[in-house]
Amino acid sequence: MELLNISNLCYNYGEDFYLKDIAFSLEHNKSVGLFGPSGSGKSTILRLISGLSKPQSGEILLDGQSIINQESHTRSIGMIFQHHALFPHLNVYDNIAFGLKMQQLDRDNIDIQVNSLLNVFKISKLKNRKISELSVGESQRVAIARSLAPKPKLLLMDEPFSSLDYALKVQLRLEISEILHDMNIASIVVSHDIQDIVPFSDHILLLKDGKMLFDSHLPELYSDPKLKDVGSMLGFFSLKDFLAGIKDLNTIVPDKLKDVDYDHLDFIIHPDNLFVYQKPNPDMFAVECRIEKIFYSGPNPQVILQRVANGDSAFISAIWRENIKPDEVNTVYLCFQNEDLKCLRQN
Ligand code: ADP
Ligand code: MG
Repeated sequence: MELLNISNLCYNYGEDFYLKDIAFSLEHNKSVGLFGPSGSGKSTILRLISGLSKPQSGEILLDGQSIINQESHTRSIGMIFQHHALFPHLNVYDNIAFGLKMQQLDRDNIDIQVNSLLNVFKISKLKNRKISELSVGESQRVAIARSLAPKPKLLLMDEPFSSLDYALKVQLRLEISEILHDMNIASIVVSHDIQDIVPFSDHILLLKDGKMLFDSHLPELYSDPKLKDVGSMLGFFSLKDFLAGIKDLNTIVPDKLKDVDYDHLDFIIHPDNLFVYQKPNPDMFAVECRIEKIFYSGPNPQVILQRVANGDSAFISAIWRENIKPDEVNTVYLCFQNEDLKCLRQN
């Protein structure tokens, strides 16, 4: 049986924001990512699942039982927030022990479980520290350890990594996903950054303006983002202006869009699929360009390219991967595989 089943969930904040007909399910020990721009309703959905808010209509089943009328703390659902909301008057140990004391476990049992979590989260040395004496990354470890102590069936994580620096984010995402897997705890990860979700699951619920656009998997979304907005959220960008006026482009337009005027089409591509070569690659679509600017945003330089013979002087940026330095080259070719350029009806 599914762990979580949500159907027809609706919620509104006055006239301004409506969450409409949210429906999805989650298997035991699995994870799903709730992905969407700021204001799309992600936190609201987590608040409804955790019991911090009550839906106007719809159903939430956990292990087949409705939890809509159940108090938040009895739902067997853990929740962590972007800002960790630890108890400032308790030390690290007592923060983690809190949920277990609520369950009225005896002291020895609590001690065994808290020490085990301190160990798993590599924070044993911090057990007597005050919350105000922790770094952001340490606080987040404590927050997650605390929410896992009562062994919830489901952990809800609301932008859990957004306040961490890049290196810590990369490390903690992987560590937490491993810990949840080892502890057999299902999770819902909410973020506007797809990289936060990837280590947990490639199953994605895509949300926009309070509606679910897709319940899909990342390989499918990357191969067919369907909408420009979805593409943008996944890192695709438009090549439309850059490619304007190129006749061969017609060969890339799928049959079903052949009759659509260029003005009503868009062409998007993911930066991973763009290449700049000194010679046109015969197996790829190639556009002759000039290098306008070079800057270093990583080990390989970024080059800003201007199309040769484009009256409107459109620019795009791409990674330079040739061995020769880009400033020694005049003419280059922006290349991509036909199937990597996604042709969409403009929305
Ligand atoms: P997300 O987490 O995707 O950024 P939220 O679920 O927090 O989005 O919010 C969705 C929408 O609801 C936003 O437009 C937000 O301004 C609005 N909203 C959130 N909380 C409240 C509230 N307590 N009262 C009124 N509007 C709210
Ligand atoms: Mg939010």
